[in-house]
Amino acid sequence: MTAHLIDGKAIAANLRQQIAQQVVERRQQGLRTPGLAVILVGTDPASQVYVSHKRKDCEEVGFISQAFDLPSETSQQALTDLIDQLNEDAAVDGILLQLPLPAHLDASLLLERIRPDKDVDGFHPYNVGRLAQRIPLLRPCTPKGIMALLESTGQDLYGMDAVVVGASNIVGRPMAMELLLAGCTVTVTHRFTKDLAEHVGRADLVVVAAGKPGLVKGEWIKPGAIVIDVGINRQEDGKLVGDVVYETALPRAGWITPVPGGVGPMTRACLLENTLYAAQELHK
Ligand code: NAD
Repeated sequence: MTAHLIDGKAIAANLRQQIAQQVVERRQQGLRTPGLAVILVGTDPASQVYVSHKRKDCEEVGFISQAFDLPSETSQQALTDLIDQLNEDAAVDGILLQLPLPAHLDASLLLERIRPDKDVDGFHPYNVGRLAQRIPLLRPCTPKGIMALLESTGQDLYGMDAVVVGASNIVGRPMAMELLLAGCTVTVTHRFTKDLAEHVGRADLVVVAAGKPGLVKGEWIKPGAIVIDVGINRQEDGKLVGDVVYETALPRAGWITPVPGGVGPMTRACLLENTLYAAQELHK
């Protein structure tokens, strides 16, 4: 048996096309072009790459992208002032603060400063709280994109045993809430979990987001399970790999996401989807 590949790249391209079409229709109706402000502080190479992709995506779907590239020594106050200014700017539907920030900055305070209706990353406690209470508004992009990937498998998630590996604010925790909302029985594992192999081994669906290459062995996977690999790790030879040993998981899983080309493109497409949603529903 070989797993069905979940082609995140193709599903994301399709979503971007739909978004671009809706932007055209908005313009034809005389409505404003959606706008996304992307703030980058410092010169972290990975962040620079992510931000340039996000800006390119905006161009592709016809959004207005505002770029704020700030030096590493930018103060907390200057960033707070910029966020306040963008909160008040009627041309801006979404504000994205690229993480991680330099160590002298308090990311939690800054994320909370973004107006919840412009929090297109879905990281504000208001949006996380709404997801926890089953009334989601702007949903964190990576888990939201994963739900779309799961939908593409056509599998009924109700009652599935789902295991999430990793409990971060941006992936693991909101992922667990999305899966709970979808009717799964959810286990969240983390660095203090005693027997990871045992948890993964009984999962009908496993989402791995630990940032540790090769953490989840193929032999652990329950035959036929859905495997979503969120991890992005660059090897010494420059190759990108996930957190799951892909080669040995492939013959056991029912469905699997590749790295790259799985979760990553969907995360970016969901950022665009959230920005369009904010323009259409929250900033009429
Ligand atoms: P993080 O470092 O904030 O969190 C990692 C989590 O993994 C923690 O909760 C930790 O307890 C857990 N963990 C560590 N070792 C573990 C172990 N042995 N067993 C079980 N859990 C363990 O990381 P993050 O921001 O959540 O990102 C995780 C990975 O996902 C990274 O590789 C990151 O690059 C990637 N990522 C990808 C996307 C995407 O769009 N594809 C988006 C966000 C993050």
